[in-house]
Amino acid sequence: MSLTRLTAVEQADLLARKQVSSEELTQAHLDRIDEVDSHVHAFLAVSPDQALAEARSVDHDRATNQDLPPLAGVPIAVKDLLATKGIPTTAGSKILEGWIPVFDATVVRKVKQARMPILGKTNLDEFAMGSSTEFSAFGPTHNPWDLTRIPGGSGGGSAAAVAAFEAPLALGSDTGGSIRQPAAVTGTVGAKPTYGGVSRQGGVALASSLDQVGPAARTVLDAAYLHEAIAGWDPKDSTSLNEPPPAIVHAAKLGAQGDLTGMRIGVVTQLKGEGYEPGVLQRFEEALETLRGLGASIEEVDCPSFDYSFAAYCLIMASEASSNVARFEGIRHGLRVGEDEPGATAMTMMSATRAAGFGPEVKRRVILGTYALSAGYYDAYYGSAQKVRTLIQRDFAAAWEQTDALVTPATPFTAFPLGEKVENPLAMYLCDLATIPSNLAGIPGMSLPSGLVDGLPAGIQVLAPVRRDEVMYRVAAALEAALTAQWGSPLWANAPDILRQSGKEDAR
Ligand code: GLN
Repeated sequence: MSLTRLTAVEQADLLARKQVSSEELTQAHLDRIDEVDSHVHAFLAVSPDQALAEARSVDHDRATNQDLPPLAGVPIAVKDLLATKGIPTTAGSKILEGWIPVFDATVVRKVKQARMPILGKTNLDEFAMGSSTEFSAFGPTHNPWDLTRIPGGSGGGSAAAVAAFEAPLALGSDTGGSIRQPAAVTGTVGAKPTYGGVSRQGGVALASSLDQVGPAARTVLDAAYLHEAIAGWDPKDSTSLNEPPPAIVHAAKLGAQGDLTGMRIGVVTQLKGEGYEPGVLQRFEEALETLRGLGASIEEVDCPSFDYSFAAYCLIMASEASSNVARFEGIRHGLRVGEDEPGATAMTMMSATRAAGFGPEVKRRVILGTYALSAGYYDAYYGSAQKVRTLIQRDFAAAWEQTDALVTPATPFTAFPLGEKVENPLAMYLCDLATIPSNLAGIPGMSLPSGLVDGLPAGIQVLAPVRRDEVMYRVAAALEAALTAQWGSPLWANAPDILRQSGKEDAR
């Protein structure tokens, strides 16, 4: 079997037993990228020289029996929203084209400390605004399960890279669902940690009170290892939690033993009815049965304020986004347009740069957010949305009185055809119906495969109380183990061949 089809944990194991070198492993992934990425377009930039140099350095340290972290030598892809020293970082926007950061985001630094070779930067919707990667200024990513469909967004590149065996692991960021929704529609696993559990420093901000960096992987245990490698306090991020991260790898291993006896799992009434595809709901109901079989009790939980979470999210996200992207003005980074025009001033240059550099979705959100924050409307829109946010947090607090974890379908529908919703922003925003409440409340959430609907992956979401990420990993790992046993193999192992879809024979 090809090395690229192994999980990250299996790869780490082979490395530790010196049965494969990191150079071979990294080269195998670079070859896979060469083979399929012209069809998938998961990557905006590939960095073979840096990746191989790090791989050789890990191999050298292993040969000389030095102590190495658990994922040392396992390659990774990084969402192009996270600053990487010496590697271009675009955030999917033309306005940053040509910007080469002089620093690493804290999570990138941690990945380097974990000794993981960085394969390259993955595609995303511009400034992480979107649910399909179609708002990337550099063209969309294609879903490895069906190249004519969306891979989710904004982190479609990271999820597709993992689903297409171009990388065993990837980093993403989740403001309203951008790690979990792409995971759901590509048959992979994606986790949004507790807000503050992983540093946001060096990530290009969309909405600072909602953004959270997290892992994309094929298995829950792989995600746990990456999560643990990037978690922890960062003095450079004022919202970072100054406490030891939860023991998530341990929890994932415990969960995989398949016993959830005594665990109380809630199903949110508001997150499984209208707007959800029947096939997605059916896979969800079956997963509930499986959870019962593992010893968990299932009860319905009412969260009435969740009906307003979508509206509150749109206002808070757009308000914060409009002020965050105001820093792009053609002076400090990337693109500059119109400075040589006759009569040009700083103002005309900034306005010409933004007109040329921002895509339609970014402009839409800047207009919406600026309006919501303007003097006469602030209380009516932004202020009301913040009140709703408090009500949502209270609904969660009440739910935790009765339950240990909550489950919902991760997304209302499976991957839709490229182009279907790109002209309809409201329909696009609805992809995140089930994922948004956890961003508003700062709680951890993750998506794992629940099965196929007409040949396309669907996801189930597990939510846990704030700072209790380990509960989410335990439930998810138990469910994953039971579902994999039912199916006879992991869902991701059965994705259709990419080269055959594109009319060529797959080499594997
Ligand atoms: N799809 C959502 C949006 O467009 C979420 C984006 C994200 O999580 N970065 O805002």
